[in-house]
Amino acid sequence: MKCVIIGAGASGIAAAINIKRKYPNDEVIIIEHSDRPLRKILATGNGRCNLGNAKFDIKKYNHPELMGLFSYNDYIEYVESYGFKTKTIGDLVYPYSESAQTVRNQMLKELEKLNVKINLEEDFIDYKVKPNGVEIKTNKAIYQADKLIVATGGKSTKGLGNDGKIYEILKSHGYTIAPLRPGLVPIKTKENTKLVDGLRIKANVTLLENSKQIFNEDGEVLFKKDGLSGIVIFNASNYIKNPQNKYEIVLNLLPDFNGELQRNHQQFLDKSKFLEEYFAPKLAQYLSDRISDKNYVKDLQNLKFTFKDFYDYENSQITIGGVQISDMNPNFESKKEPNVYFLGELLDMHGPCGGYNLTWAFICGQKLMS
Ligand SMILES: Cc1cc2nc3c(=O)[nH]c(=O)nc-3n(C[C@H](O)[C@H](O)[C@H](O)COP(=O)(O)OP(=O)(O)OC[C@H]3O[C@@H](n4cnc5c(N)ncnc54)[C@H](O)[C@@H]3O)c2cc1C
Repeated sequence: MKCVIIGAGASGIAAAINIKRKYPNDEVIIIEHSDRPLRKILATGNGRCNLGNAKFDIKKYNHPELMGLFSYNDYIEYVESYGFKTKTIGDLVYPYSESAQTVRNQMLKELEKLNVKINLEEDFIDYKVKPNGVEIKTNKAIYQADKLIVATGGKSTKGLGNDGKIYEILKSHGYTIAPLRPGLVPIKTKENTKLVDGLRIKANVTLLENSKQIFNEDGEVLFKKDGLSGIVIFNASNYIKNPQNKYEIVLNLLPDFNGELQRNHQQFLDKSKFLEEYFAPKLAQYLSDRISDKNYVKDLQNLKFTFKDFYDYENSQITIGGVQISDMNPNFESKKEPNVYFLGELLDMHGPCGGYNLTWAFICGQKLMS
């Protein structure tokens, strides 16, 4: 059997390893349009590659029923079979070396051992399903294969190889693409945040949609010149689905304050003294204009920012939306076209920060055709 995989990212390479381990005599070729395989992996987890989560919870995916078909229990063991050990820091699973380079090197070594060919700087253009397989067209060649596996990722981070042209190709084949938007992304707010650009603060973060709470998480918020960032904001951004609705981010900057402390503080301190004691000088200056003189503790526990827009795909970790899940079988084969498979971020499947998206990409590759 001959398999052509489009995309040398996490899901494509995991798929190649899986196929060659199961069927050593098969021919597997990976087509990658950038000049390096597994480029994005190096940027993950701030260079440390957060590839799993000790408190893994399928409910955190937008399609939990799909992830429910696969087991997370043997996932870490399988990932370690690529040739590196893992460790858990907090709840997050990393390679033991805490270096994404280890993951990349070991996966590429395994590919070499299994005799998988990677054709770099070759762009996938289209395909035709034939009675006995699939004809695949790139800018350099035409391949006749038994199976085509499309693992091109989404539209995020063009600089790392993703340009999103694939969606147009798949639409021309009759696939429904669930609406696309940047995911795990900073947001722009209506309130001016220029003064505090670059400052970080721990907060409890609530997201309101038309005044109704739809998300709550503790985390570190990073102020940007025109909005908010940080992992907790990335996670909140995934819940902003209907831009015609009103979304507000509410920061509780004093989550540990109880009623007694509040009374004492408001009795003894004036607002500016309180801000000086509890916040970095720049932040204190910014907050002073945004909170009242009397109810400042309450205001600091309820600091509202109104959503204006997402940052663009270039600043997003994932693309939300993609090939509709109902268009494929649980072994990732298309229901519309035999011998055509879709994997990873290209599908309409996403999770929060914390290893969920790499877990999905690797599990797709590992479970392909099983
Ligand atoms: C900065 C950053 C940090 C992240 N950190 C984490 C993290 O710590 N943990 C986590 O779980 N997730 C993280 N993610 C998300 C995670 O990296 C992705 O969800 C995952 O890599 C998706 O894998 P994939 O194989 O589906 O796609 P990709 O990894 O995007 O791979 C797709 C490949 O296909 C190639 N390609 C695209 N189009 C074509 C074409 N027409 N022809 C040929 N080749 C093509 C691309 O060049 C690319 O190499 C992060 C993402 C970013 C951007």
